[in-house]
Amino acid sequence: MAKHNCAICGAEIGLISAQKLADGNYICRKNCRKKLFKTFDCVPAYLQDVTDHIAQIEYGTKVWNQIFVPLKKTKVKEEKLRQVTGIQEYQVYVSPSTGLIAFNENRYKFMFFGKTEYACVYRLADLVTYEYDSETTKNSEGKEETRHYCWFGFQNTSGMNYFRVQLSNSGVYPAIEKYFNELFGIQKTVRNMFQNAKREINAAKAVVGAVKAVKDGTIDEAQVSDTFDALNAIDLGDRTEWIAKADAALAQVK
Ligand SMILES: [Zn+2]
Repeated sequence: MAKHNCAICGAEIGLISAQKLADGNYICRKNCRKKLFKTFDCVPAYLQDVTDHIAQIEYGTKVWNQIFVPLKKTKVKEEKLRQVTGIQEYQVYVSPSTGLIAFNENRYKFMFFGKTEYACVYRLADLVTYEYDSETTKNSEGKEETRHYCWFGFQNTSGMNYFRVQLSNSGVYPAIEKYFNELFGIQKTVRNMFQNAKREINAAKAVVGAVKAVKDGTIDEAQVSDTFDALNAIDLGDRTEWIAKADAALAQVK
């Protein structure tokens, strides 16, 4: 049987315990896959994405401990966190007073850092998509079950820049969308809603396509211009204030 070496720790790995990446590298499931969030998708990832994601968790957890943990207990109304409660071990916390948003994965046995709360922290200003998604599957008794999700997508972010959080029911999403739209001053009327959703999906596809093309060295000018056109079509609202807040908060992190 073919043996590979883990591109991160160097351990020899058999096929069953090897996670293949998009660039042909392998990482070991035993140690290195566990350093990543479970929601991180290794299949389209290059080794650089994986190592960026590990650095992202290391830094994000530090920001979580220094900024978000104290704010969880604040009595000041303007500083309170807004929680998007996912099911299982996933939570999203928005901190409007610092312009940051944290995605947490809580594990009881996550050997890498020896703590139980881990986070990827993003600037709210980089949040470009917060879309609803659902999946309907048949359960073991043949009954249809629908799961509800919110996708979060960030620009200017290396590591994990797309993830989804499973919501407890379909009624949770509209409040999330309303919250972010108000935060960014985006007017989404029913009339332009479908148009917006379509443009965001096109933009996401264009970005993924461009990133792959850059890595393969096959990008051409037309594709670059399509990507920027698609990105510019998204109504992001005015993010100036959010960029300033987040950068000021992150500058305090030791
Ligand atoms: Zn390894």
